[in-house]
Amino acid sequence: MSKKDLLTILKELENVIGSLALDIWQNPQIAYEETYASAAQKKVLSDAGFLITDSIGGMQTAFYAEYGKGHPIIGILGEFDALPGLSQSSKPYKDPVVENGPGHACGHHLLGTAGVETVLALKELIDQGKVSGTIRYYGCPAEEVLSGKTFMAREGVFDDLDCCLTWHPSTSNVVQNYSTQAMISIKYRFHGVPAHAAGAPHAGRSALDAVEIMNIGANYLREHLADGTRIHYAITNGGQAPNIVPDEAEVWYYLRGSDRDQVEDMLSRLHDIAKGAALITGTSTSHELLANCYHMLTNDTLDILNYRNMEDYPMESFTSDETAYAAILRKSMDPKLIEASRRQLQLDPNDILPTKNFYDVKLKDSTMPGSTDVADVSWIAPLASIGTTCGPIGTQVHAWQATAVFGTSIGLKGMHYAARIMALTAYDLLTEPALVEQAKAEFAEATSGRPYQAGLEESILAPGTERKEQLI
Ligand SMILES: [Zn+2]
Repeated sequence: MSKKDLLTILKELENVIGSLALDIWQNPQIAYEETYASAAQKKVLSDAGFLITDSIGGMQTAFYAEYGKGHPIIGILGEFDALPGLSQSSKPYKDPVVENGPGHACGHHLLGTAGVETVLALKELIDQGKVSGTIRYYGCPAEEVLSGKTFMAREGVFDDLDCCLTWHPSTSNVVQNYSTQAMISIKYRFHGVPAHAAGAPHAGRSALDAVEIMNIGANYLREHLADGTRIHYAITNGGQAPNIVPDEAEVWYYLRGSDRDQVEDMLSRLHDIAKGAALITGTSTSHELLANCYHMLTNDTLDILNYRNMEDYPMESFTSDETAYAAILRKSMDPKLIEASRRQLQLDPNDILPTKNFYDVKLKDSTMPGSTDVADVSWIAPLASIGTTCGPIGTQVHAWQATAVFGTSIGLKGMHYAARIMALTAYDLLTEPALVEQAKAEFAEATSGRPYQAGLEESILAPGTERKEQLI
């Protein structure tokens, strides 16, 4: 058995897996509603003989599929949620399939399906007696609201993993050896007294006033926070009409920082601001914590393994048709963003679909703006992630261009390459126990004295089940 045989197995899976990814792309569903993708993946995996554990933590779309027995247990993380309002055909100009409908602008149809491809290939090796151990694919809902994996983690489903691998669609082939921001998502609600805004304003207590005063307080708070922190908010309920003093109002906050302690400190200060706004306006306030995810912990052992496999098994070139499509798509993108990406990756101006690999060791411990619930798993088991080229340089995820290109052969090529690298790295881990031990020793040192703690209390339930609010 050589890695070449593994690549042959993967090649044979490409048609079926490519169809599965496009099927999910054509049936996009947003966070916690991904019934189509979840069912489609479960069917393929159970037909192949995987044992499915379903509805983890009461979330109907969360599952894992397992094959083999004993250690090492290698996890592959998948996702499948789409984004609201980003419906788009695969045409290289704006062309929504459903006006304001959801679309796969973050490529999670590729992300999850690559994981299915990886574990199906590894299963063949187990069947042939070439490797032993357990492989486990996790179908994780709701990455876009940063909470699916945190609810799964609270159920303990990642606890026995020896190592974990994942990836994300990108515009280059890159070892993601950098951290992401810890993040809290929270809604504050204010409760006042309604009144006729002209006839009896003195009888009213405005919940909207409280929201506005809270936002002023939060904006003054910014000056006294560490560099690199982020606060963003949206008013999600500001009352019904100008002539009614609003008795209910709501504001939704995201807090981000370089680690969990920093974000939780920001949260306690924001709670005080909410209480102050309620006191000033004669209203009361409550909050609902929606997500609380960690910053990412990287693992050099696994990153180096991924990079070695990327270098040994480079991505094939894109065709002239794919390059021509990418060139048209780029015309709708911001030239400054394209240029910034090109410089960062030191690419030739004509290299719009790069196939070379990037691993900058200096990025270790730097923090990329943005957050992911993958980070929670990185504090439970040694974890590594890569990005692969699924669209031209300059493509921004969460924009229609991403939905378009991720639904073409360009996206599929990047997906198959990610599956290949994850399978090759998993093969290394399944055949060389010393590598698993090395990754685990590195993880144990990094987390020493800092065991994983779920950020959401047991009383907080995933959407679709009844939520409980806390009065403050
Ligand atoms: Zn996203």
